[in-house]
Formats: sequence, structure tokens, C-alpha cells
Amino acid sequence: MDQLLHALKAARCARVVRLLLLGGSLGVAAPTAPTDAQLAEAVVRAYPDAQLRADADAVVWPDGTRTPVTRAGATSGSYTDRLNHADLRAQLRTPYPACAPLRPPAYLEDPGRARDDAFFRRLYGSSSAQVSAHLRAVNWFGQRLAFTTVNGADRALEAVARDLAAQLPQHPDWRAFLTPSAGTFLWRTVAGTPRLSAHSYGIAIDLNTRMSAYWQWDGHREGARGIPYRNRFPAGIVHTFERHGFVWGGRWYHYDTMHFEYRPELARCP
Ligand SMILES: [Zn+2]
Repeated sequence: MDQLLHALKAARCARVVRLLLLGGSLGVAAPTAPTDAQLAEAVVRAYPDAQLRADADAVVWPDGTRTPVTRAGATSGSYTDRLNHADLRAQLRTPYPACAPLRPPAYLEDPGRARDDAFFRRLYGSSSAQVSAHLRAVNWFGQRLAFTTVNGADRALEAVARDLAAQLPQHPDWRAFLTPSAGTFLWRTVAGTPRLSAHSYGIAIDLNTRMSAYWQWDGHREGARGIPYRNRFPAGIVHTFERHGFVWGGRWYHYDTMHFEYRPELARCP
């Protein structure tokens, strides 16, 4: 009986921990949750070139159309359902620990992995042709990589390259991580999902695959518990990207350590 009581207690504890995790990282409305207006403001501040305006519950585009911060149905269903239907609130929900020490993320902690596709399509283009119209070649350690000029993402990537180049004499081992890049722009969905990859918008760069770890290559199922974290990227490279407004896929429970993407609404070093 003691054992049974103990087991029941442990099960209750596990449920409480699970609920806390759900509340914290998956955004069941907590008392301190930011308002729609605050979240809209954060988006407006991060993308000044888009000339957006925040109102009480939406981001407003120059032509008056609105992207709501909270959309019905965005927070229901499985973890994967919620990723597939993310709204701006989901996009901003998990704080991104920019410039913090590297550590294995908690279960389902994927800051920046959720994207409101409607917002991104509006911002960068809604087809390969529309996105392509804004691309230009950026010099990445001798490679010419297509990146969007929208919101200065191309200039941010150039600044990362300059910053890293200045640090290479002290860290010659970094070069093997940085080159060759496995690519930037490609209009495609994330393998095995209906979601558009950030690469579709010309805002993401993959570094050297040989030095990288990716949860799908390791054969894991999305949302599975106990995925063992793997990473070889040094913190110095990660922090350099973060200083220029990029988030890193290595801070995701669903790790993708070659992947960096321009997300100034999230990556702000203190
Ligand atoms: Zn990538």
C-alpha cells in the first residue's frame, strides 16, 4: 500500500509538473501573460521598416489590414497542431534566451520555432516569386548567399559575417562550423509537416551540416519525450548571431544546430 500511495503521489506530482510546464512554455494563459497590445507593440518595434502600427489586439499594416495577435484555434490540439496554426501570441510566447549560456532546452521548449505564417507571408512574400523579388546576394566567407532585403535582414547577416571574421583569428576552429553554408533561400515546407520553413522567406541560413545535429536526422518523432540533446556549436558563434537579431535552432528541444534565422522580435541580447 505504501508503494501504491507513493506511486499515486508521484503520478500527481508528474501531472502538476506537466501542467506547470504547459502553463509556462506552451502558454495556457497565466496571470502575468502579456496583453495582445503589448505583444503587438513588440512586433511593431522589431520590424520598423514595415511601418506597422499596434492597436489593442492586432498588428495593423500600412494599408489598414490587420493581423490579430490571438486567433481562435491557435492554442488547441496537440503540440504539432499548435505549431501548424501558430498566431503571433504563440510566436512570442516562449522567451528566447538571447546571449545566455548554452544549455539543453526543456521538453518542448522551442523559442522561435512557432511562426504565424500569415504574418511572415505578408512581411516577406507569399510565393517563391514574391520572396525572390526581394533577395540579394550576401558574401558569406566567399560564398554568395541569397537573403531578403526586407527589414534589413541582408544587412544583419552581413554584420554577423563581419563580426565573426573579426573573431576568427582568436578562434580558428570556428571556420569549420561556418563554412560551407548548406544554404539560405528555398521555398519549401519543413520535412514531414505542412508548415513553411523559415528558409522560404529568405531569412534563414544553415551552416556546415558536417558539424551539425538535427532531431529529424537522429530519427526522433516531433513532440516525443526524452529526445537526447546534441550540439557541437561553440557559444561564441551563437552569441554573435544573436547580437544581430538571429535566433538559433540549437536552443530548441527539437534541435537544429546548423540553423539560424532573423527574428528581431525575439533575439535581443540584454
Ligand atoms: Zn535551416
